[in-house]
Amino acid sequence: MRAGQHRSSEGEQSEALFLTSSFTFKSAAEAAARFAGSEAGNIYSRFTNPTVRTFEERLAALEGGERCVATSSGMAAILAVCMGLLKQGDHLISSRSIFGTTTLLFTNFLQKFGVEISFVPLADTAAWEAAMRPNTRLLFLETPSNPLLEIVSIAALAEIAKRHQAILAVDNCLLTPVLQRPLDLGADLVIHSATKFIDGQGRALGGAVIGGGEMMEKIYAFLRNAGPTMSAFNAWIFLKGLETLKLRIEKQSQQAMAIAQWLTAQPEVNRVHYPGLASHPQHALARQQQQGFGALLAFEVEGGQQAAWQLIDNTRIFSITANLGDTKSTITHPATTTHGRLTPQQKQASGIADGLVRLSVGLESVEDLIHDLRF
Ligand SMILES: *Cc1c(COP(=O)(O)O)cnc(C)c1O
Repeated sequence: MRAGQHRSSEGEQSEALFLTSSFTFKSAAEAAARFAGSEAGNIYSRFTNPTVRTFEERLAALEGGERCVATSSGMAAILAVCMGLLKQGDHLISSRSIFGTTTLLFTNFLQKFGVEISFVPLADTAAWEAAMRPNTRLLFLETPSNPLLEIVSIAALAEIAKRHQAILAVDNCLLTPVLQRPLDLGADLVIHSATKFIDGQGRALGGAVIGGGEMMEKIYAFLRNAGPTMSAFNAWIFLKGLETLKLRIEKQSQQAMAIAQWLTAQPEVNRVHYPGLASHPQHALARQQQQGFGALLAFEVEGGQQAAWQLIDNTRIFSITANLGDTKSTITHPATTTHGRLTPQQKQASGIADGLVRLSVGLESVEDLIHDLRF
């Protein structure tokens, strides 16, 4: 929680916020040395900023990574990984159960620049192995997936990636380093949307990439030259978020577990998707690679879309929005929002039933939240 703090001579308790676009030099010679890179130091906030650096050092420490670079959003973090590490003719294998905008970034933009893309079912490690090609450079996934909370063994995929000299990147937005540390399990890169649990209070957009070596230098070079870096003000907000991250996500996970257990006993509910339940197909793997089960859960109500919409419209506390990770609980109907663009066949293939409802559980009283779910 204190990693990365460098107090100024004022001795401030809270981290200083450096709202400045550029930095000055003591002399022309110092300016020349900074620009030439022979002397370390700030030049311009698109390159480095002390508040942003504090955030980067703190998140790198939490993820157990050598270096972190902060970005203007989670999508900018994913873009920076692709632009920094892929070139025309390279092949990317992605889990098919990823954030919708990430799918669009891959198919509508990366493909345009000659990157080949394959999508595979997240939990099927044999499918990942079978999709490997000589030009495969990057493997990309989220575990658990959203909204169905499927899980894959990060260690198993890291082994496949290593054998084929490919890079394994894990979007760790749903669990955060408090509940899962992909680098410890063999992943090469961790990606975050800081907009979700790291802020946790719905205020700002941001993202980050954590990893080591030359890869990070290439990702940083893209950001420095292309511009989607994090603002100092947002970094300061996320620093405050990181101070309470552990408390929040542990409590939110406990509440999600209680709601999942309660839902299992409701006659109107056909199925509950939550890795903390013994009925979850990968419950054992979740116990092994995660330090908790997370704040997200999904369930299928009897009666399809109509029943799901009725349940959603009956709530008074849950916010009807697709956002997640907030201290305010949210409720979503994936089939008509986040996954609304899929064809009926695609929905069926990816398990997005018409009666599926997704919750991101916040910090309100769990009794009030349960009372708010009326079928
Ligand atoms: C929200 C989200 C993103 C994108 O992050 P933004 O900050 O909205 O750009 C990426 N991955 C996952 C898993 C997300 O939930």
